[in-house]
Amino acid sequence: MKIVVALGGNALGKNAQDQLNLVYKTAKPLVDLIEEGHEIVIVHGNGPQVGMINLAMEETNNDIPFPECGAMSQGYIGFHLQTAIQSELKSRRILKSVATIITQVIVSETDQAFKNPTKPIGKFYSKEDVPSLEAKGYTMVEDSGRGYRRVVPSPLPVDIEEKEMIFTLINSGNVVITCGGGGIPVVRDGFKLKGVPAVIDKDNAAMLLAKMIDADYLVVLTAVEKVAINFGKDNEEWLDNLSTEKAKEYIKEKHFAPGSMLPKIEACIKFAESTPERKALITSLDKAKAGLMGLTGTIIK
Ligand code: ADP
Ligand code: MG
Repeated sequence: MKIVVALGGNALGKNAQDQLNLVYKTAKPLVDLIEEGHEIVIVHGNGPQVGMINLAMEETNNDIPFPECGAMSQGYIGFHLQTAIQSELKSRRILKSVATIITQVIVSETDQAFKNPTKPIGKFYSKEDVPSLEAKGYTMVEDSGRGYRRVVPSPLPVDIEEKEMIFTLINSGNVVITCGGGGIPVVRDGFKLKGVPAVIDKDNAAMLLAKMIDADYLVVLTAVEKVAINFGKDNEEWLDNLSTEKAKEYIKEKHFAPGSMLPKIEACIKFAESTPERKALITSLDKAKAGLMGLTGTIIK
């Protein structure tokens, strides 16, 4: 099967060294899927990493814009993932190349998200710093009594600029890492593309990519083995199968936390509803293979 895998934060660790150790562990269940005969395309998150880069740039007064910070995070996360996956493939005598694509994802300038930035990024500032930051064009908000933070919009992905390249690489049997951190958000400006300070949700970008490459499965790998209703409560119930209709009811009943499980469920619904054959799976990294065999995880169809 052709599968788009969306890797969560737990696959990458807390800092660069931690990540370089962890990716070798992350590579094993991914290569298991390749060994099973699946074609996989990998999308990953970048929240902590892009935050770290952005912070380092601010601390050293380097005016590196946010989209560039995103590109840097795609670069080094991709480097770690591709080196680990490549070595795991070699150890199993599987001949395949792994490549990371610096990916630009087109968003719409008229996306409502630009009117209402919600994603906090970077460090906390004091009230005195706010006017000069706002003069730089930043939107600053008070973050629950802890100080002021910059917020950026989270627009929907519309198109993937490097899609033809991605198709070509996949179709010639390579393992592709793309749309890291949801992709670098860009808007069209005549023949040019212009990076915008925003964060695209990686689960949504993975969903768009999965539709574009006509994948059979969208597999969201995160910290939990299954999706629950009444999550964390006494009457918590883990789900094996979830129809898109039922999922929409559960969204209305607020079973899924915004910013964590909710975007995953929404992405899975959109993918599963796009054709009758397409299915989505939410499970943990170590259960990916078992999940695809129908042994665990939550399947959305
Ligand atoms: P990722 O880095 O993989 O995107 P997130 O932290 O954003 O991870 O989202 C996954 C987390 O969502 C789980 O670890 C879990 O704590 C939380 N979560 C919120 N609501 C639910 C739910 N209804 N069922 C399962 N997990 C949930
Ligand atoms: Mg997340």
